[in-house]
Amino acid sequence: MKIIDDFSFYGHKVFVRVDFNVPLDKNLTITDDTRIRAAIPTLEKIISDGGSLIIGSHLGRPKGITPTCSLQHILPHVSELLKTKIDFAKDCLSEEAIKKTNALKPGQVLLLENLRFYASEEGKPRELPNNISEKEKAVAEQIEKINQKNMAKQLASYATVYVNDAFGTSHRAHASTTFIADYFEPDNKLFGYLMQKEIDSIEKVMKNTVHPFTAIIGGAKVSSKIDVINNLLKKVDNLIITGGMTYTFTKAMGGRIGNSICENDKLNLSLELIQKAKDNKVRLVLAVDAKIADNFSNSANIQTVPVDKIPDGWEGLDIGNETEKIFTKVIKDSKTIIWNGPPGVFEFDNFCEGSLAVCKAIVHATQKGAFSLVGGGDSVACVNKFKIADKISFVSTGGGALLEFIEGKQLPGIKAIRGF
Ligand code: AMP
Repeated sequence: MKIIDDFSFYGHKVFVRVDFNVPLDKNLTITDDTRIRAAIPTLEKIISDGGSLIIGSHLGRPKGITPTCSLQHILPHVSELLKTKIDFAKDCLSEEAIKKTNALKPGQVLLLENLRFYASEEGKPRELPNNISEKEKAVAEQIEKINQKNMAKQLASYATVYVNDAFGTSHRAHASTTFIADYFEPDNKLFGYLMQKEIDSIEKVMKNTVHPFTAIIGGAKVSSKIDVINNLLKKVDNLIITGGMTYTFTKAMGGRIGNSICENDKLNLSLELIQKAKDNKVRLVLAVDAKIADNFSNSANIQTVPVDKIPDGWEGLDIGNETEKIFTKVIKDSKTIIWNGPPGVFEFDNFCEGSLAVCKAIVHATQKGAFSLVGGGDSVACVNKFKIADKISFVSTGGGALLEFIEGKQLPGIKAIRGF
């Protein structure tokens, strides 16, 4: 497999799948352009080599043609960042798109309309009537799978080279992220810079690990992180379990958690994970105290109590000072750190201290030579809130894709290019 730096795009037409799924406000103005900026180096390399560029992306979760999800809204900003005029094809599979891609000259750029305006991008039928039989449903699904292959084939026909730089969607087997790659020779499909950096960083953490290795897994629920925790328990030296899921563990061990968030159907699972950590000689680090509130709001009354003695009517919204100290020590002594999910409701200024302490400890360890990787929408939002992104070794753009990678799954968008 070729790498982008060794490839000359001169004279090639290049289909680049990017992840321009950026948040827009109600006036359809971009509120965070991180994902666009992240893809710019790859796009610049292709243009400066003398390639013609066809950019494909999704935006939002449209069900068919949805004007608020049009990529036209982001076109001026992409053009500004690339410092190049960009043409637009109003339908990614239309005659117009075919003509425009055919006519592209070296250095010219075309942005295709939202790929997910077609259900075939995802390969699943949309909004089937309720009254159809299982057999009819299976036929509709089959048809969409065929449409998906056809869509991939048509998008591939626009180009001589395929580049995937959309790490955020690499866990999806979609027409433009996966099936399209089948139509290119092995030497003519490659990862963009962003995708390569994501893969290298995650593999550095998960495969070529320098110990001690600490994972900090927080967030709201255990249920969404079970597979991640299970796989990490095979790899890490320390596993810090924090955030809302703390209380499911605390209750499972017989503690009083008041009104804290808890998944009662995951109590046994929590005990199994505790046992598994023991069996694998992993140090499982849980909170010892909690900053609690008398309602879920920033202006609630606050007190700090032992994590297993939370009175009724109160709920844990952040870790307490003792826990901060314990987490900080473990993190500071680590050589590899991965963080997904905040230890508290960091969106409330009165409950973001625990998240800040974790951020500071990761920065400290990184400055001492540790490799740190932070990923997942909320942890990245935390890192941005505290303005420390440039002090972390790598901030991933992937949410679901990152989690599935850490779970040890093969991601279809990666496999389509390198074969595993
Ligand atoms: P996740 O998407 O699972 O990573 O969850 C992130 C969310 O978990 C953030 O919005 C946090 O506000 C929330 N969170 C963290 N700690 C708690 C807690 N103790 N109670 C409720 N929500 C929490």
